[in-house]
Amino acid sequence: MLDNTAILDRKTENAMYTALKYSLVIPIYNEEETLAALYQRISKVMERLDGSVELILINDGSRDRSLEIMRELHEKDGRVCYLSLARNFGHQIAVTAGLNFSRGQVVVVMDGDLQDPPELILDMVEQWRQGYQVVYAQRTQRRKEGWFKRFPAYMYYRILRHLADVDIPIDTGDFCLMDRCVVEVLNSMPERNRYIRGLRAWIGFKQTAVKFERDPRFAGDVKYTFRKSLRLAMNGLVSFSKVPLRLSIYLGLFAACVSIFMAFLVLYWRLFSPNSSLTGLAIVMIAIFFLGAVQLVSIGILGQYVGRIYEEVKGRPLYTLAEVAGFRQGDDAK
Ligand code: UDP
Ligand code: MG
Repeated sequence: MLDNTAILDRKTENAMYTALKYSLVIPIYNEEETLAALYQRISKVMERLDGSVELILINDGSRDRSLEIMRELHEKDGRVCYLSLARNFGHQIAVTAGLNFSRGQVVVVMDGDLQDPPELILDMVEQWRQGYQVVYAQRTQRRKEGWFKRFPAYMYYRILRHLADVDIPIDTGDFCLMDRCVVEVLNSMPERNRYIRGLRAWIGFKQTAVKFERDPRFAGDVKYTFRKSLRLAMNGLVSFSKVPLRLSIYLGLFAACVSIFMAFLVLYWRLFSPNSSLTGLAIVMIAIFFLGAVQLVSIGILGQYVGRIYEEVKGRPLYTLAEVAGFRQGDDAK
């Protein structure tokens, strides 16, 4: 068994080690069909980078052969390091683990399904040389993704932009390059509901975009199920905006206005058209349901925030590690 505390303590030590120039951080969840092709394409890019590179693969509790393939890649190529989380912790946490262990002066985060073209890293590095500390990839087009994915994503990013306290650029995912100074700040952020693209925007520094067309997945199914996507979207909204909380005040005020209006209406009907059937049970029922709904929605919104406070207060570690290899020469922990 692996001593997690010892491994986590190593994070700081790793960060001090800056002889490495580039770290590529890639979360992997059941990607056995893609890993070989991913490695092939990335190694071509690694050859073209002007310094030493480490390729950090994070196994996020895969149930297929992903971890075995990672071990093979590590045996074959010393630049490949991997972390294996003790269960599926989700994409954002897997990326966080990779960032914690990264040692390069420049860190690139990308998906493991080849939807993010590795060749774009070269353009990102070019921007970094121009003096930008964060270079994020911005999608101009999503190829071969259905409207049921494209449309909600399109709307979500635009709504979030209006509501969020920080300026989160639209149509950007987690595919980005970050300078060590940004990674250090990100690593020091303790929150467990991590919406990395939001945190990245919050950190600041000089940021810029490179545009790209998002390819379809190389192989396998989407690992972000509808539920996981919804949770991520909710996280983004709740972590970066207090507007939903204000919404309950507005809803309450609206309900109050409607009831005052209705009171006058009922009074009018009683005085001037006593035969109106609308003053009966129906209107009472509607009022009860309406108020009930307003209250439940408000409690639900409040619950989202309170639930997050509860999560944070527990202060559990973000992830548990089952296996680590390649981060120190001749020191593979298993
Ligand atoms: N992923 C992960 N843990 C999860 C879900 C996904 O590490 O619980 C990884 C997955 O292997 C891939 C990346 O996150 O490398 C993006 O996942 P996916 O392609 O399914 O998401 P989408 O492209 O729809 O954003
Ligand atoms: Mg994908």
